[in-house]
Amino acid sequence: MNDPLYFSSDGHLTDVALQILSDPESNLDELKRLEIAEHLSFCDACLMRSIDILSSAAAPPLEESMSKQIMKHIRTKSRVNWINQYISVGVAACFALLLWITGVFSSPVEADRNLQDIAAEFTQGTNQVTDTLSGYIQQFFDHIENFYMKEDLNHEKK
Ligand SMILES: [Zn+2]
Repeated sequence: MNDPLYFSSDGHLTDVALQILSDPESNLDELKRLEIAEHLSFCDACLMRSIDILSSAAAPPLEESMSKQIMKHIRTKSRVNWINQYISVGVAACFALLLWITGVFSSPVEADRNLQDIAAEFTQGTNQVTDTLSGYIQQFFDHIENFYMKEDLNHEKK
């Protein structure tokens, strides 16, 4: 005869039985545990109920260090995503600017113009940009050099 605490009159497991089974700290005796487990092995209805009870049971609290680690990981991950996003936008913006400077956008593409011409023009434009940029960089360093030379002269005067 099955224990009425664990088995209802229709032969299925009671909620008490399922709850005790899902509780690792319950001191249910091995024979009862076996009886309940045996019923679960062939009764889908009780198996589904036991899964519901198990999944609704509160998840054990994470250890503080572990949750901190997880949060750190999430923060790092979202920061990397954020940076990647801005780098992509930056690269796209630079490329668009380059196209705009080289006049690809402004010159109407004629029907008979082939891709090679456009590519050649683009390369030419890119070279111009590079030349201009290196010119600016050269000027910048000249300025710095002049500045330090003046500083040196001032020091020598004193
Ligand atoms: Zn059952």
